[in-house]
Formats: sequence, structure tokens, C-alpha cells
Amino acid sequence: MERTTGKLLIVGFGPGSFEHITKRAKEAIQESDIVIGYNTYVDLIRGLLSEQQVVRTGMTEEVSRAQEAVRQAEAGRVVAVISSGDAGVYGMAGLVYEVLMERGWRRETGVAVEIIPGISAINSTASLLGAPVMHDACTISLSDHLTPWRVIERRVEAAASADFVIALYNPRSGRRTRQIVETQRIVLKYRSAQTPVGIVKSAYRDRQDVVITTLGEMLEHDIGMLTTVIIGNSATSVYEGLMITPRGYQRKYTLGADVQPLRPHERLRTEAEPWALETVGVTEQDAGSEEAGWDEDGETLERLAADREGSEARRTEAVSGSWLAAEPAGHNALRRQTVGIAPSPAKAAAASASPLSLALEALRLVDASRGVATAEQGQGVDGGRAAAAFRQEAIFEFTVSPGLANKKLSAGQMMLLAEIVGDAGELEYTPHHQFIVRLRTDDPDAATGRLREAGFTLAPIGDVVQIKACDFCNMEKAESVPYLERLGAGLGGAKVPKELRIGFNGCGMACYGAVNEDIGIVYRRGKFDLFLGGKTVGRNAHAAQPVAEGIEPEALVPTIERIVARFRAEGHPNERFHKFFKRVKELEGYRQQDLPVFAIDNAVCGD
Ligand code: SAH
Repeated sequence: MERTTGKLLIVGFGPGSFEHITKRAKEAIQESDIVIGYNTYVDLIRGLLSEQQVVRTGMTEEVSRAQEAVRQAEAGRVVAVISSGDAGVYGMAGLVYEVLMERGWRRETGVAVEIIPGISAINSTASLLGAPVMHDACTISLSDHLTPWRVIERRVEAAASADFVIALYNPRSGRRTRQIVETQRIVLKYRSAQTPVGIVKSAYRDRQDVVITTLGEMLEHDIGMLTTVIIGNSATSVYEGLMITPRGYQRKYTLGADVQPLRPHERLRTEAEPWALETVGVTEQDAGSEEAGWDEDGETLERLAADREGSEARRTEAVSGSWLAAEPAGHNALRRQTVGIAPSPAKAAAASASPLSLALEALRLVDASRGVATAEQGQGVDGGRAAAAFRQEAIFEFTVSPGLANKKLSAGQMMLLAEIVGDAGELEYTPHHQFIVRLRTDDPDAATGRLREAGFTLAPIGDVVQIKACDFCNMEKAESVPYLERLGAGLGGAKVPKELRIGFNGCGMACYGAVNEDIGIVYRRGKFDLFLGGKTVGRNAHAAQPVAEGIEPEALVPTIERIVARFRAEGHPNERFHKFFKRVKELEGYRQQDLPVFAIDNAVCGD
């Protein structure tokens, strides 16, 4: 069969203003022979029409509109079917395909179909509210015209419980008034009444109205068929009359860290939140490429439930130059993050193109042109007011163990740990003789005090010195333990460019694998053997290089302290100790030597 010359152009013309219709959408309307659309829309695009025949239908006659469009195209004509927003979002695109499917249409031989994307209401309304979408979001149409209410209800429930930002399309009409009330009731089961809600009517049209309110009070505002309602997630807040949902990085802090819950202008700085934006643009393709100086170990960031204080703001803006003022179509249709740690200097170029650095650069340029001091200078942001509106709960994390040498937990300790962690916290069993504890708390001292009292050893998490010892054969070979304790007191938990594990074993058997750590210390015949630069992970992992035998006991701790001090002073951010040793070639007079290794490529995390 010959392909017909007919063509279906399914055009989304965006929210309503001429500026927000795409070039291709304009062209498509102009190149069509016939334009089919809901009455009001046709009136609205009249300025773009020349010779086109126009087929107008009522709002609820979508199926007949789609059938007419297909018939005309099959008769050889170029037909533009117009939808507001995006034609594929509660628009005409799916209906047209349904009609084509019913008629046995084939891509190869049937009429050509082109779907021309437009800016959907979730995007246009979000842009007027601030940045409420930002993170995982969904759209739900509350119209039960084509979808049974029980289906819609279930979706609202699922979205609310999973903490999605929710954009409600078709929230209410003259006849359908219950759905939005029910929706509010369901969402309130999962979110605070203070959750920010944005209500935008006629985005980018003449009678545009933008309201920011709360979940508890949303029904006190005008909501109709021209409105999209955006319900924030548990981390969304209001700042300067704008609704903002954070990108979702969970903030964590650990023992002894000065990083306590941050104020908004303090967030997203690498030093405060090393897991933040800096790495994301790169890590998705490059996660763990160790050769490039990145960490092999990804870090899973979970969602953060936030406590925030709502505020209400109302803005009404008239958009000049709007060319549409319409009722949209009233139909319906059904519907752990891994990042690396901070980049190394080698990645500076990539990092300079990160979302954070671009955003900071843009702010700097705007501020410079307005003669405004920047936040760095302490004047750019009203920190006090912002802090009140933008509070994020933080996760407090640290490690616990029964001691450096002691590997046994008592039942009482286990019970205390279980009680402190509770259902809301998390206890992770690690390969390093310790548990990681994660708590949602802003009173860390209460928990840590009780754990210490019960005999636990606590240590911070992150890029710190971690000391891993053996059990000294149940403390039967304990002569070297005082040196272990001195090392622990002097270096345990100290900040370093990259996490550093020091293995300490009490006899030549080294059965706890000290020689496989970054630094290995083995006690033997009254003296210490030293091993430097193990590669602890990866397919090409290798033991540390033996650099000294028979170090006098009194010399051990100062030697290790000097080595660590050099790593702290000269190590690049995120540089593993074995790479550092290789780069500086010598530590305490011990020369680095390349060990014979099997030729095997390294692999990245998850590979
Ligand atoms: N295809 C359209 C959606 C059509 S369903 C799109 O992608 O945007 C109609 C619903 O869309 C309306 O009830 C309203 O919730 C939303 N809507 C469409 N245009 C809008 C606008 N300019 N301002 C606010 N909401 C709009």
C-alpha cells in the first residue's frame, strides 16, 4: 500500500503565552491544512492561522476530535491537533494513537504522526512557584471523567506515602468538588498540615494567579479547572514567598564534627556537605573511577524527612503579552542514589561545571552587576529568617564497637544499642569490627553518653583514621596493647584527606589481616614490623609493602604519628593512602616500591 501524504501533527502549545510555545509548534500549526481543537484553543491560536480550515469541537468531544483528525489525515491532509501544555500529558496524543490502533495503523504504511512537545502545566506552574518539583514528583489528574475514582484515590495514597511532590491536574470543576477535599484528607495522613502547597491558576495567561499556602489551608483558596495544585514533599519549604524542594541530599554529621544542622546559606558547600552537588554531574558516568582520583566506594544517600515551618505568601501577577485566556481540556488519562565523595584536584575541571559551581557563578555575576555582597561575605542571605523557614533534619552517624581489642558484646550492650537505635534509626554491620549507628536526632549527646557509659567505644565516620586491631588471642598475648591504646588515643578519629585504616595485630600470625590495611603494624618478639600502602579494595587489591622490621616499641607511635601528619598535610583531598605513598615516594625514610601485581584492570563500584 502507498503511504498517504496525510500527516498528523499533535501539537502541545504550552501554558498559554506566545513566548512559551516552541518554534516547531508554531511551524506545525502554520504548515497544516486543517486545525482541530477545542473551541477556546482554536480561538487562542487564531493569530497563527492563515488558510487553514478549522474544526472546532466542545470540550468533552475529544474522541470525536481524534477520529476526525485521523479521517482527515487518511484523506491526505496535514492535520494539526492542538492541546494545551504537552499533548502527551492528559492531552490528545494518546487518544489519537488509540484511534489509529483501532484502525490497524502501521508506522511504515499509515499516515505519518509527529508529536510536538510542549511545556506541561507541572513545569510552567512550578516555574512560577519557585522550584517545588526539583526531586521525584508525579502528576495525578483528579478528573474521574475517564478514570474511576478508586484508582485515582489509590494513586494519591501511594504518592503521598512515598513522599513524592504531587502536581494535581484537573483538581476541581463546577460539578467535581469532592475530589480535591478527599485528596487533601489522604495526603494529610502522611504529611504535616504545614506542608507547602502552590496553587497556580492560568499560568502564563492573562488572569494568572499564584498562591502559596499550606496543605492544611489549601481549600480556603480558589481552585478550579484552570488551576494546577502542587503539593510539596516533606522537605519542601517556603523561602521569600517561593516554594523550594531541596535536591534531596541527606545531610549527615558525625561525632565531634562541627557540622550541625545547617542554615540554608550554609548548605551545599563542599566543606559542609562533601556528598553534595559537586560530584553528581560527573559520578553518574564516572563513579568510582579510581584512576581519575575518585572513590571506589559509592555512598548511598537516602531520603530525608524534614521538619519545616510553613509560611504563607500570596502573589498575583499579570503576564503582559499573554495571548491565551482559556479553559483547558477537561479530560483525563490514567498514570538510593549513589554518589562519590568530593572530587580530587584532577577533577577540578569537571567539578567547575557542576550544578553547584554553575549556580554560584550565576549568583556571583548577578550580584556583581547589582553591587550586592555575596553570601560568602556574610551579607547576601538573611540567615536568621531563612533558618526559621528552612530547617532540615539531619542524620547523626558514628561507629560503635566493644573496644579496639575487645570483640565481645554483652547482652546488656546489645539491648541498649537496640533501644537507642529504635525503629527509626539504623544499625549497619560492617567488615571493620564495628557497627555504624544512624540516628535522626538533634541531641546526639544523650545517645553517645549512654553508649559510652555502657562501655562502648565510639568513633566518627568519614575521612578519619580508623584503627582495627585483633583480639590479641583473647587478650592472652596483650603485651602490645598499651601501644595500641596510645595510637588510638592520639590518632583514632583524626581527620585525614581520605579514610585511613591502621591495622594492628599482636603477633606474627597477623590473623586479623593488618598487612592488608593502609598501614599495617605487627608486633613480633617485642618489636614492631611496619607495612605501608595496602590497596584495600578493588580487583587489583594488594597487601601493604613491608617497610621495616623490628621497630623499637617506644619509636612506634611517634613514627606512625609523623606518617599520618604528613598524609594530613600533603595528601590531596580524597587521595587514598597507597596512592599518596606512591606519589610522595618516601615516608619516614621508607621508600615506596611498586609491588609485582597481576595485570588486571581495576573495576568501578557496581561493575
Ligand atoms: N496537556 C496539558 C494538561 C491538560 S489537563 C498539560 O500538559 O499541561 C488540564 C489541566 O491542566 C488543568 O485542569 C490544569 O490543572 C492544568 N493546566 C493546563 N494549563 C494550565 C495553566 N496554564 N495554568 C495552570 N494549570 C494548567
